[in-house]
Amino acid sequence: MPRFGMVIDTLKCVGCMDCVVACQTENDVPQGHCRDWIVTELRGEFPTLSLEIRSERCNHCDNPPCVTCCPTGASHVEEFGKTVQVTANMCIGCKACLAACPYGARFIHPDGYADKCTFCLHRVKEGKDPACVSVCPTRCMHFGDLDDPKSAVRQLLASRKHHTLLPEAGTKPRVFYLT
Ligand code: SF4
Ligand code: SF4
Repeated sequence: MPRFGMVIDTLKCVGCMDCVVACQTENDVPQGHCRDWIVTELRGEFPTLSLEIRSERCNHCDNPPCVTCCPTGASHVEEFGKTVQVTANMCIGCKACLAACPYGARFIHPDGYADKCTFCLHRVKEGKDPACVSVCPTRCMHFGDLDDPKSAVRQLLASRKHHTLLPEAGTKPRVFYLT
C-alpha cells in the first residue's frame, strides 16, 4: 500500500496561486476558507538570504496530533495512501483537531465539520494527480509514493536539499520543500 507525499520545488514556485484556485474549484472550498495557500518567507542569514515561496497545505503527517485528539474517530488515517482524512458525518465540530494542528491546516466547514486538504484522494484513486499538482504552470509540485524508491518524489528527495515545516513539532510531515 502506498504512503503518499508531496515534494514541492521552492526554486520553481512563482507564487501565482494557480494551485489555490484549482483546489477551491476542484473541492468546492467554501468562500473565506482555503485548503492550500501561499507563504513567502525570507530564509538564511545575510549575506546569503533567499526568498522562499511555498504552496502549503495539510502535511498528512505520519504522526498526526489531529487524529489522536479526535474524540469521535472522524479524523483518521485512511488505509489507501496512509493519508489523513475526516469523515464529515462523524465530526461533531469540537475543533480539537484545529487546536492540535501546528500548521493551521484545518477549518470548520459552514456545514459544521472539520475540513482540510485531502490530497485530492478522489482524483488519486482515478490515477490522477491532486488538482494543485496538475495545474502548476512551473511543474514545481510532485506527488507520489514515499515508500517506493523508484518514485519521482523519492528520487527528488535523494538528489536535492529539502526541509519540512516545523520538524520540531514531531508530527513527521509528508510535504517536503526542495531548496
Ligand atoms: S498538517 Fe495538521 S491537519 Fe494535517 S495531518 Fe498534520 S497535524 Fe493533521
Ligand atoms: S472537529 Fe471533528 S474531526 Fe476535529 S477533533 Fe472534533 S470531532 Fe474530530
